[in-house]
Order: sequence, then structure tokens, then C-alpha cells
Amino acid sequence: MASEKEAALAAAALPADSPTIFDKIINKEIPANVVYEDDKVLAFRDINPQAPIHILLIPKVKDGLSGVSKAEERHIEILGRLLYTAKLVAKQEGLEDGFRLVINDGPSGCQSVYHLHIHLLGGRQMNWPPG
Ligand code: IMP
Repeated sequence: MASEKEAALAAAALPADSPTIFDKIINKEIPANVVYEDDKVLAFRDINPQAPIHILLIPKVKDGLSGVSKAEERHIEILGRLLYTAKLVAKQEGLEDGFRLVINDGPSGCQSVYHLHIHLLGGRQMNWPPG
């Protein structure tokens, strides 16, 4: 399998509005381990977990939000909703002692899927600085 960095560089070479694997998950064309869903947000377990709990939260409608660097004023509501939902899901997962939220952006940020997503990581002691 390509390294995270290689995957990030390959993904960055595609047009920002290209469909991603997350569209297929939203449309139920491929399975996902969904832990939360409402009309705006979907949360499912990462296929390559980096912690005992590793969940991705995504907007169901991409609306140009391939990454946080592409955020426009119209996205403020969904950005806030994603963060608030991350808190709900963390509680649902029993992460009472803490957790980490991560948003990778662009090739230098190691983003490999160009549909905005928040990583929710927990269930182990995190370290700082991140890699
Ligand atoms: P990024 O590197 O921040 O863009 O994160 C993309 C994440 O999506 C990675 O952690 C991948 O493991 C995860 N991922 C890719 N494909 C799937 C899938 O089909 N199901 C669940 N997670 C996926």
C-alpha cells in the first residue's frame, strides 16, 4: 500500500471537485461502519485506524468543501456542526478522558481524501508534537 505521504501527493494531483471514496460511502455504494448519521453529517470508522477509536466525520454534501482551506462563509454552519457532532460522537464512544480532532489539509498536511473530514481519535494516550 502507498504511504500516507504518497497517497496525499497522488490525491492532490486530482481536480479538487473529483468524486471521492466518501461519495460512495454517503451513497451507500460501499459499506462503512457508521457510528452516527443525521441529515447533514455522517460519521464512520476509519478503515486504517491510528488509535483504538478512529472515526471520520464528514458533511453529507461536499458543496466545494474539499478541504478546510477551501472553506467559504457559506460553510460556517456545517463547520460548526461537524465540530459539535465530533463532541457528541466522542461522548457516545465513551471518550470521557479526552480525545484528539485532526483535519489534514493539502499535500503538506497529508490529506489523501479531498472531501472535508475531521478525524476523531481516542482510546489511547496521545503524544505531542504529531508527526
Ligand atoms: P486524510 O489522509 O486526512 O485525507 O484522511 C483520509 C482517511 O480516510 C484516512 O485515514 C483513510 O484511512 C480513510 N479512508 C480511506 N478510505 C476509506 C474507507 O473506504 N472507509 C473508511 N475510511 C477510509
